[in-house]
Amino acid sequence: MNGYRGARTAMIVGAGVAGLTAATALAGAGWQVEIAEVNPSRATSGWGLCLTGPALRALAELGLADDCLTAGYGMSVITHVDVDGEPAGRARLPRLIGARQPAMAGIARPVLHRILHTEAEQRGVVVQQGLTVTAVDQEGELVRVQLSDGTVRQVALLVGADGIRSSARSLLGLETSLGYHGQMVWRALVPRPQWATGIHQFAGKADTAGLVPISAGQAYVFLTENGVEQSVLPEAELVPRLQQLLEAFPGRVEEIRPLVSVSESVVRRPVLTAFLEGAWNRGNGVVIGDAAHAPAPQMASGAALAIEDGLVLAEELGRHRSVGAGLDAFVSRRGQRCRTLVETSVAIAGLEHAQRHREAYPLTDAGHRLMAEPA
Ligand SMILES: Cc1cc2nc3c(=O)[nH]c(=O)nc-3n(C[C@H](O)[C@H](O)[C@H](O)COP(=O)(O)OP(=O)(O)OC[C@H]3O[C@@H](n4cnc5c(N)ncnc54)[C@H](O)[C@@H]3O)c2cc1C
Repeated sequence: MNGYRGARTAMIVGAGVAGLTAATALAGAGWQVEIAEVNPSRATSGWGLCLTGPALRALAELGLADDCLTAGYGMSVITHVDVDGEPAGRARLPRLIGARQPAMAGIARPVLHRILHTEAEQRGVVVQQGLTVTAVDQEGELVRVQLSDGTVRQVALLVGADGIRSSARSLLGLETSLGYHGQMVWRALVPRPQWATGIHQFAGKADTAGLVPISAGQAYVFLTENGVEQSVLPEAELVPRLQQLLEAFPGRVEEIRPLVSVSESVVRRPVLTAFLEGAWNRGNGVVIGDAAHAPAPQMASGAALAIEDGLVLAEELGRHRSVGAGLDAFVSRRGQRCRTLVETSVAIAGLEHAQRHREAYPLTDAGHRLMAEPA
């Protein structure tokens, strides 16, 4: 199709958490939305993630929090365990979607993506797999978007939601650098132990580990390796290496370690962060989600920020007469919150790196308090 023209038409680059939720929010506000997703298949890597209170609150606005809680695992407490295996405190997170609802939910990524895809498509969003954007030009009140299949769209709004290494960001002429903090993070899907009814976080002599339930039957183990160069390990080395790293932890981690040997999915990724200084918009194009602000995973808030972005974007575009004015209002409303969260996550990563775990807990609490404020 050589695309539509019109007042409330949007092209979104990337069908991740940010792209799908922004599409759903915009479609709900009457926009005609198409998504170009570079991945030819809908399969997502198999590890899980934690939807904190602000993520659930934003999903509730889209009518999706109950689906996520039903398909995932609701919980409200983070238990910190010290280097010696002794309890170091329990954080009870605020219940932002109601006193009787859990504060957060663990969920498998493919399950979350299925819920987000279904809702977006029910609202009329067209998701094109195996497609990307190759050129962007502002033409008066419209953006001319050239796609990798040779077709062109002329739309009122272009949203780059294509993650931390965003190409939409570069096509819009916006540049940022990625920060690496000497940490590689591991995730492994395991059967959920009966005692794991909330998040457990274990401080180690060199690394940090933990467990997050994502359904009645499943959980994921996480481990943050400190003071290492970015590297890629051969697939066959992942399970034995993760088990070896977990050997350094006493207490309940000894129960978790054997579960890793039966894990069908172990991944190891660098901790990368980004924050786009200045405007996130140019003409009628804007970047959202990790493309604009990617925190370290220690705050478990990247998805929350991404979902909030879509809601605030739809709201500000609805409030302003021109797309440009709506985008300016969006960026000024989101900038400080996202910057503080990214900076807090980087500070926590630094304290973990320096083995100053107890100093990291109040920062984490402050980050959660900030995120509990309305978006
Ligand atoms: C190990 C790890 C654990 C994490 N755990 C948590 C957690 O527990 N809780 C939490 O809230 N956050 C967590 N995060 C952060 C969270 O995953 C991100 O903040 C969130 O996924 C950002 O969503 P996004 O849609 O902006 O980007 P992404 O999820 O990266 O999605 C981008 C999408 O764009 C597509 N794409 C990329 N390039 C192109 C292109 N050129 N053209 C078209 N499409 C393109 C990609 O295929 C993808 O579908 C974690 C991150 C990591 C790395």
